[in-house]
Amino acid sequence: MAAIKKLKPPVFIMLSMLALTTVFGCTQSLKPEDTAQVQTSSPRVDGKKKVLTTFTILADMARNVAGDKLVVESITRPGAEIHDYEPTPSDIKRAQEADLVLFNGLGLERWFEKFMGSVRNVTSANLSEGVQPIAIASGAYLNKPNPHAWMSPNDAAIYVENIRSSFVKLDPANEATYNANAKAYIQKLQQVSQEVKTQLATLSPTQRYLVTCEGAFSYMARDYGLQEAYLWAVNSEQEGTPQQIARVIDTVRKNKIPAVFCETTVSDKAQRQVARESNSTFAGVLYVDSLSEVGKPAATFLDLQRYNASTLVQGLLSKSK
Ligand SMILES: [Zn+2]
Repeated sequence: MAAIKKLKPPVFIMLSMLALTTVFGCTQSLKPEDTAQVQTSSPRVDGKKKVLTTFTILADMARNVAGDKLVVESITRPGAEIHDYEPTPSDIKRAQEADLVLFNGLGLERWFEKFMGSVRNVTSANLSEGVQPIAIASGAYLNKPNPHAWMSPNDAAIYVENIRSSFVKLDPANEATYNANAKAYIQKLQQVSQEVKTQLATLSPTQRYLVTCEGAFSYMARDYGLQEAYLWAVNSEQEGTPQQIARVIDTVRKNKIPAVFCETTVSDKAQRQVARESNSTFAGVLYVDSLSEVGKPAATFLDLQRYNASTLVQGLLSKSK
């Protein structure tokens, strides 16, 4: 039966994709032969197919689209460093047993190609396909795409559409559920984007600086009209060199930036030094490459957006002279 459903005429598939809203150019991350491979994978005990993601944020997005129709797990745990993660033999085993692996692309997971080379006949889907990348402006990865596109809720909606289309290919019997769930989640992303915009609107032009450890906030800075400064562009380069620290101290002093921040997945030592030497305040950690554990403030992607916005606003407003 599933096989018959997978042979729908392309025009029907096109129409059902068009039906899903607004967006955004559909992707063809899965090739027909990949779908065939997925189809032959062994049935689950609970009857559900299994989806792995490279990190926790993608898992949260994917669960929102999957509802109760698929099992979704992240390869890396909350708090893990994602760029240069070293997969374990058990990660490879989990990927081998999965029906689909979702990854960010744009060079985020520097380990991913080799990782997928270690498993056989498992399909993967690149969730950033269709995003207009922002180029990295400095450092060892100059002019390469900044991989943190999910930090823009508008671009996150492209990820959700890519998740939806890969789920429909994986499990066409539940297409209607995936379409409805994706549509509802995209609406929540639009809503949280509006909330963030409203929060950040309380900052004056001279307070609109986002100073972080990693240059992971370029998409967010673009969306909300913030100036961006950071110690290093991407976590997989040298972190906290004297030159990087001196440059940011200079920027903070010149612009009298009241507060600086770091992220949860890296050491904040260098940024605390920036704060001390520039008469600024270290005002907290932001979530970007990982969600928090459940029970902490950024256990979902929507909460991550809210938490980052309120941490920024509190830091920048309360320390302003
Ligand atoms: Zn990062």
